[in-house]
Amino acid sequence: MAEVVNQVVKLSSANAPEREYPLEYTRNIGIAAHIDAGKTTLTERILFYTGMIHRIGDVDDGNTVTDWMEQERERGITITAAAITCFWKPKEEQGIHKLWSNIPHRVNIIDTPGHVDFTAEVERSLRVLDGAIAVFCGVAGVQPQSETVWRQASKYRVPRIAFINKMDRIGANFDKALDDIRKKLGANAWPILVPIGKEDYLQGVIDVVNQRAYLWPDDATNEAQQGARYQTADIPAELVEQAKKLRHELVEAIANLDDKIAEYFLAEQEPPVAELKAAIRRQTVANKFVPVAGGSAFKKKGVQPLVDAVIDYLPCPLDVPDIKGIDPHTKEEKHATPDDKGKFVSLAFKLWSDPFVGRLVFFRCYAGKLEKGQTIYNSRSGKRERISRLLQIQADKRQEIDCIYSGDIGAIIGLRNVTTGDTLCDEEAEIALEPPTFPEPVISMAVEPKTKADQEKMGVALQRLSEEDPTFRVKTDQETGQVIISGMGELHLEIIRDRMFREFKVEANSGKPQIAYREAITKSADGEGKFIRQSGGRGQYGHVIIKIEPLERGKGVVVENKVTGGRIPREYIPAAIYGIEEACNTGVLAGYPLVDVHVSLLDGSYHDVDSNELAFQLAGSFALKEAVKQAGPIILEPIMKVELVTPVDYQGDLIGDINRRRGIVQNIEPRENVVVVHSQVPLAELFGYATDIRSLSKGRASYSMEPSHFEPVPSSIQKHILEQRGDQSTRRRS
Ligand code: GDP
Repeated sequence: MAEVVNQVVKLSSANAPEREYPLEYTRNIGIAAHIDAGKTTLTERILFYTGMIHRIGDVDDGNTVTDWMEQERERGITITAAAITCFWKPKEEQGIHKLWSNIPHRVNIIDTPGHVDFTAEVERSLRVLDGAIAVFCGVAGVQPQSETVWRQASKYRVPRIAFINKMDRIGANFDKALDDIRKKLGANAWPILVPIGKEDYLQGVIDVVNQRAYLWPDDATNEAQQGARYQTADIPAELVEQAKKLRHELVEAIANLDDKIAEYFLAEQEPPVAELKAAIRRQTVANKFVPVAGGSAFKKKGVQPLVDAVIDYLPCPLDVPDIKGIDPHTKEEKHATPDDKGKFVSLAFKLWSDPFVGRLVFFRCYAGKLEKGQTIYNSRSGKRERISRLLQIQADKRQEIDCIYSGDIGAIIGLRNVTTGDTLCDEEAEIALEPPTFPEPVISMAVEPKTKADQEKMGVALQRLSEEDPTFRVKTDQETGQVIISGMGELHLEIIRDRMFREFKVEANSGKPQIAYREAITKSADGEGKFIRQSGGRGQYGHVIIKIEPLERGKGVVVENKVTGGRIPREYIPAAIYGIEEACNTGVLAGYPLVDVHVSLLDGSYHDVDSNELAFQLAGSFALKEAVKQAGPIILEPIMKVELVTPVDYQGDLIGDINRRRGIVQNIEPRENVVVVHSQVPLAELFGYATDIRSLSKGRASYSMEPSHFEPVPSSIQKHILEQRGDQSTRRRS
């Protein structure tokens, strides 16, 4: 890690000499939060104070910069993780020590979405971040979805600063939110910027480390209105004692982790500010400590010191472990280290169809650099492409650039064959970075073009959209010929339909959202498939014997070739496997994809003249279908984790309602005036839930849900599903 005490930073030799913002002065951060906690507002303020935009917008006016898409503006939620570059120079201020005063930094902000329908976006962005600001609402504290986002950040070991926002709102309580962060998230969290006053009397923040105050005047000048002007001052007399206590506690918390500070603490000496800051940085970067700041993005109080804290405490690309991947040929593990002199390695983390410049591929450069005119290699597809234009997004401006260095984030225009999660690299340093893991879609819906002209465009639109979003899938139902789209929730699919219309001008009707069921087996079975036609002329001959066994949930389909002695010639094995996989995709029982099954291709036979690939493909498919019938096939349904917050009065009715929905209450947690009911409920029973709980609780209860896992449906319901599918197919055939 860069040595930071007293600004003696020796820049790493990994930096190219011509590089304007060295690795040490680069931050890739995300702003992650529960929906409505205020991350859009906060991002907007940061862009304003960093000079990237010249007018402050408010989410409520629908004119913020990060919410690019119209429908986001309408709904007021951030759906697209936009990567935005801005610049920040920590200002020199009297009595306030900052680790890098006066040194310009580049800060790339990835605005991660908070809605659970879009978890894939959150996961994808967390992978490319080095650090994050987790935003909490100062009134509500830790809400269910903030927990989800927090857990995801922990999974990718992303160091965090917590920002307790909305301290201007009635009922805001910094200590309670802090307590929530410690208890519910288990974070070793300690305040570094503590609000002075609250609600209408929120005046500024105490800088605990420097023992100074930041105050925002409430006068009517334009500057003050925009929160751009503030004063630094001595801590108000009545808060001096509290501020000292906070600093003492902070030092103690750091001393528990850091030997250097422990020495001072044990000797009952105050550690110098520079050393304390350096230690906070070390422990934050090591994911052992979470600095906590408070303020109000909306009232523009506390934002600038928060950005200073990002620079001081969140890691630069050199501070985080190397990204891991594998050699796609030998499968050996490989690393990519940030170094401009190294071979180019990058991860494409977001695709975007921009109405002005066309298709953009957002990527994070992990090693080497990428210059205009260079050719890159895609380690998934094995294709090479030349880079003609590079961009950096600076708020709503698209800034053309010539080169992107290691540790930085940018966008490429005009790449053809790229999918989210692809590794783009130098061919000589071929590596496949671990693809991120994404949850399985839980909702499907049939879509039908309105006119013939729409029909052609719809195919293109859906393909593009599914390339951008790995949790969005498209397939054609083989029996009905209907196009079925699947995703993470109703809102997710609605947005897709909306984008199809707005960006691709395709009009489509859609069916009712349906549950994306799966099929699975309950025991092992053998299956034999033959496709033999030998009546005159050249015939067909394919013969396959397999064994299938159930796998653990979530393992998907694994096909293993165990054929020996050339009983099926090598050239036909891939065709047989393809036939088996295709049959799994389209299901056996009711046409839903078969999952969690291990297939062993055991034996078969062939004919010298009549055998061909197609015959083996069909034989494979028949063998699978036959085996599944003997293997106790069942239907699996998606189960959602539901968290319901309600005043105690309605608890009984709402729990009764969960039981009626085949739900299982797992635990009931009392909080001040309310209870939180944690349960698991099948998604099939949750249509219309929002309306129902509103009427059951007179509008007082709220809930959130996220996909949890798949479980077998009860047999009566399985029967019902099968009957329905049967009806549909008879109707179709008649
Ligand atoms: P996001 O969903 O997390 O992006 O949240 P937004 O930034 O869209 O904010 C949600 C709502 O909270 C909007 O109505 C904001 O005006 C409001 N809001 C955001 N920050 C604050 C704050 O600091 N104080 C108050 N009172 N309201 C805020």
